[in-house]
Amino acid sequence: MTQRSGKGASSSLPTNRLFQTSTMAALLDAVYDGEMTMDELLKHGDFGLGTFNALDGEMIVTDGEVRQFRSQGIASDVPSDLKTPFACVTRFEPEQTVTIDEPLDKEAFEALVNKLLDNPNLFGAVRFTGEFEKVDTRTVFCQCRPYPGMLEVVAKQPTFTMNNITGLMLGFRTPKYMQGINVAGYHLHVLSDDRKHGGHVTDYRVKRGKLEVARISDLEISLPRTKEFAEAELLPAGLSEAIRTAEGG
Ligand SMILES: [Zn+2]
Repeated sequence: MTQRSGKGASSSLPTNRLFQTSTMAALLDAVYDGEMTMDELLKHGDFGLGTFNALDGEMIVTDGEVRQFRSQGIASDVPSDLKTPFACVTRFEPEQTVTIDEPLDKEAFEALVNKLLDNPNLFGAVRFTGEFEKVDTRTVFCQCRPYPGMLEVVAKQPTFTMNNITGLMLGFRTPKYMQGINVAGYHLHVLSDDRKHGGHVTDYRVKRGKLEVARISDLEISLPRTKEFAEAELLPAGLSEAIRTAEGG
């Protein structure tokens, strides 16, 4: 079962406009509870990624459907009133589509996307559909209050390797100057073809498939009005390094 957008992300929504809730720096400072429900999120896009309140798993949104990967990396039900502390969505409309017919590791794949996007100072939306030689993922798991910091959480996060799978990998490339607002560089989540497995991608090697990209120059950021967000330290020393540790790979 998955949560569908219904009439949420309608065709009247502008394409390739990024909507995000809260900031990466807030998530890093353990602001793990947001106010936005899945129903509301899907009004802003049908493609994207994020996490859930209490950091209860990884989120992928594709074709207006939300899936939640909990600690075993297995998709579970997503009630429409479930909330998110951090998510990024868009109504993705590819500007360029290329066929990949030779294996590319993460570095080569990112270099190809950078070349296609051709502007390091804009956001990019990325979708790869096809075969993977391997994908390494991690999945955060539900936390209890008082919340530990995210670096403490990710030190214990379950990681998985999927070999020879077909599926899709999607997400965003964020410009360097937006570090802290979002995750500078690539942030990608994966979903297996059977729609049952996935998570936050840390490393991969694609074999062959279709790569679609679009540049994003319009942003909307919805900041929480919660006490936790009000009290969060959003520009700590070592922010970039902390984000790389928490989100990187
Ligand atoms: Zn992620």
